Formats: sequence, structure tokens, C-alpha cells
Amino acid sequence: MTDLRTHAAEIADQFSDHLDVSADEVEERLESLVTEYRVPVDEARRSVVNSYLDEAGIERDELAGGSGGNEQTLLNDIDQDEQWVDVRAKVVELWEPRSESVAQVGLLGDDSGRMKFIAFTTSELPELEEGKSYALGNVVTDEYQGNFSVKLNRTTSITELDEEIEVGDDSTSVEGALVDIQSGSGLIKRCPEEGCTRVLQNGRCSEHGSVEGEFDLRIKAVVDDGDEVHEVIFNREMTEELTGIELDEAKQMAMDALDTTIVEEEMRGDLVGFYYRVTGPTLGRYVLANEVERLREPADAEELLIKARSM
Ligand SMILES: [Zn+2]
Repeated sequence: MTDLRTHAAEIADQFSDHLDVSADEVEERLESLVTEYRVPVDEARRSVVNSYLDEAGIERDELAGGSGGNEQTLLNDIDQDEQWVDVRAKVVELWEPRSESVAQVGLLGDDSGRMKFIAFTTSELPELEEGKSYALGNVVTDEYQGNFSVKLNRTTSITELDEEIEVGDDSTSVEGALVDIQSGSGLIKRCPEEGCTRVLQNGRCSEHGSVEGEFDLRIKAVVDDGDEVHEVIFNREMTEELTGIELDEAKQMAMDALDTTIVEEEMRGDLVGFYYRVTGPTLGRYVLANEVERLREPADAEELLIKARSM
């Protein structure tokens, strides 16, 4: 079967309960759009489906569901609102629904990345389990302020997979107010022993005892996204980017003041109370920042809260 024939057969099948339409007829309409009008196949398909929906006088979600009707999509490739897609993904995380109308909300992951998903109570779907992988047919994409998510609906087909879907990019993004900087931030000394790098407390490594430490910069910050707090670690490079204070400058500050804690105090004054978007892999309870952006503040505060509540 040609590509168009496959699409035609699927469309005819989807409408079989509503219209008397044959695969031949659908194929003809697709063919005309694709060949004569040079419309891309996806768009031709959408257009033909829409015209049959009009003809049948039904809404899209009344169509026969089932996977195979849509394009199999990687999460990271989703870049349009209100597209009907099929995904194969692992349930990475389930969150506590913040509203009665939400049955489940959380994060899906596949080898392209992660995306929020939501299932509404009215859809009466079987529950997804954290850590399990599924083929999800007929989910709808959604966009909110540039962030995409997928919505399960009552036509969504859910098939648990035997294989486990590999979740690619481990990155997470946290957006909120930097509310605290923890001790052990700023100018620190690390153990110089091979492969140790522990942060010294009063010149001592917990493993190697009293050593001549090596200076480093680090920030352990607490970011409040309006919903929960996240602990974020900025390494030397990210700390320099975040504060504009480089290691040599920090050492000079400490020497001038005869006190290394002055660096932490200086950073605290520059950062606490401002809004940031931090992205990076997670390690246990920490987010390891590898991208940071200072956001408009406090104009964003209300927006952040609204967004946090909507999750
Ligand atoms: Zn050590």
C-alpha cells in the first residue's frame, strides 16, 4: 500500500460509524491535495479529516480512537498546539493533582526528553503507573507560554509496553525565586586528594583529615517555584556566570577581608530574592545547574504563582 492509501484506509475506518465513505474516495481527495496542490501529507490528512468532520457534524474527539491514526511523535518534537499524536513514553514522575478535575498529572519521558502530561477525571481512563512505559494513542498537544504538554482524553488508548522506554535528557527546569543560599557556598576549599574533591570543613576533609585545600567556587541555592522548593547546585563556572564574580576576584575579596565568608555574603546579597530559571540534570534531590537565566522580577511573581497552581 502506498503512504496515501494507508492514510486513506485509516481515515475511512475512523469515520465508518459516522459516514458512508470508502478508502478509495478518501485517497482521491488526499491525492488531489498532495499531487495537484503540493500540500504536505500531514496537512492534507488534517484537511480531509476536517471536511469529513464537518460533513458528519461531529467533533474530533467523537471519532474512533486508537493508535495508528496519528503520527508517532517524539516528545521533544512536539512544537504545535492542539495536534493529535501518538507517543511511546515512560511515566517518569506523577505529581499530586491540584484540582478535582485532574485525575493524573506528571512527567512523561522518551529518548528525546520529558514532557508534562495531564489526564482529566471526566476521561475515565485507567491510571498510569510511575516507572511504567506505555503506548499512548490519540493524545492532544497543548501549549502554555511556550511550554508544551500532552493531554490524555477519553479517546486515548493506553497500552502498557513490555519494553522499558529509555528516557533521554535527564534535564529539569526550575523557575522561581532564589530564597536562600546554604552554608558551604561562595569561596570554598576542596580536598586535593585524587578523586576526593570533598569540601573541607575548617581545613579538614572528612575522609583525609587536615589537608592543604584547593579553592573553588560553588553555590548551593534554594529556589522556590511557588509550589515547592528545589535545591540547586551551581559549580564554579555557573557561579561565575551567575554572580559575575570570578575565582581570582573571590580570593582577593577574601584576602582583603581576611575572611572567606565575605564571598558568600556578597553573593547572597546579589542573588536572594530574585527570580531565575535554572536548567540541568538532577542528582538525587539536587538540580545541577548548567543553564541559568535571571527573570524579570517581581512582575513575574503573580504569573509564577498562577502557573504553579495550574500544574
Ligand atoms: Zn579528601
